[in-house]
Amino acid sequence: MGTIFVIAEHRQGELRDITFEMLFKANTLCKDLSHKLTAVVLGGDEALADEIKKWADTILLFEHERLKNFDGDLYKEVISGLIEEYEPFITLMGHTSWGMDFAPALAIKTGYPLATDCVDIQVEDGRPSVIRQIYSGKIFTKVSFRESKSYLITVRPGSFTPEEIGEQEGEIIKKELPSDLPEPSKEFIGFEEAGAGELDITQADLLVSIGRGVGEAENIEVVRELADLMGGVLSCSRPIVDKNWLPKYHQVGTSGKSVKPKVYLAFGISGAFQHVAGISGAGTVIAVNKDPKAPIFRVADYGVVDDLFNVVDALKEKLK
Ligand SMILES: Cc1cc2nc3c(=O)[nH]c(=O)nc-3n(C[C@H](O)[C@H](O)[C@H](O)COP(=O)(O)OP(=O)(O)OC[C@H]3O[C@@H](n4cnc5c(N)ncnc54)[C@H](O)[C@@H]3O)c2cc1C
Repeated sequence: MGTIFVIAEHRQGELRDITFEMLFKANTLCKDLSHKLTAVVLGGDEALADEIKKWADTILLFEHERLKNFDGDLYKEVISGLIEEYEPFITLMGHTSWGMDFAPALAIKTGYPLATDCVDIQVEDGRPSVIRQIYSGKIFTKVSFRESKSYLITVRPGSFTPEEIGEQEGEIIKKELPSDLPEPSKEFIGFEEAGAGELDITQADLLVSIGRGVGEAENIEVVRELADLMGGVLSCSRPIVDKNWLPKYHQVGTSGKSVKPKVYLAFGISGAFQHVAGISGAGTVIAVNKDPKAPIFRVADYGVVDDLFNVVDALKEKLK
């Protein structure tokens, strides 16, 4: 019987959603393969480890202060030591700022193959293969690994819905920090929350969201008028913020805000995973896009294939 590792992610004392998403997937794999699930908690405390007891058979807990705030160099060292000691079949990490930082270095250090940004994992004939998206999410590919003793996978946030809770009563094993860790080359200074700004899009019931499809900064007002008429709040994808057309606090997505409106109206947004990860908590998603193959239609409850301005004008007309 082997084991599957899940590297638990936390920030400021709270477990991140990706942790439960990975634990959920790892649980299903462990059941199919008769493996044990081992969660690795770096820099958390016992309360944090307690929260994932139900999901794991074993929790390896490093309470050390040096690991409390993320440091990819140190995490890589500690995780590679654990992989050597426990020889997990698969190690799951988030395709997040954590995983993107240390997973490639971990692959180099351990020599084990790595697949990044995976949206699903299958095991056939004792070897995992992963599902990844290409061409901006329009095509899914199945990628196989070369034969190895151990496999490393980073999981795209939002790929799994952790609806079923595990039934384990995981044992917490407190681990000591290796004595030969390198001196830190980075210093943690502090967390800076993206300010709520003048409005808090996370509290809105109706979000009218614009993407690059809006074309020009001047066109934003046309959509803002619609949002006002509907009693909604204007939000956007990242390019709109990058172009300085709207302040950062309007941005939805992994590097913006996760939102949970009752209705999310997406105008001219392609549906990149960094965007749709931020709307997984939304009620009804309505997307308007000129491209019938836009990935946003995969997550939309209703879709309109049209120029967004036709739809905006028609809605405004109706509302007036
Ligand atoms: C580390 C990292 C973090 C990121 N974080 C975020 C994040 O938090 N949020 C985020 O949104 N992105 C984020 N991104 C960027 C993300 O990958 C995409 O590039 C971005 O979401 C694309 O925005 P978009 O859909 O507005 O633009 P595009 O992908 O360019 O899509 C524009 C869409 O508009 C449609 N369109 C064009 N004209 C019209 C029209 N007249 N009518 C109707 N439809 C039209 C097109 O068919 C297209 O589908 C991040 C990227 C990285 C690397």
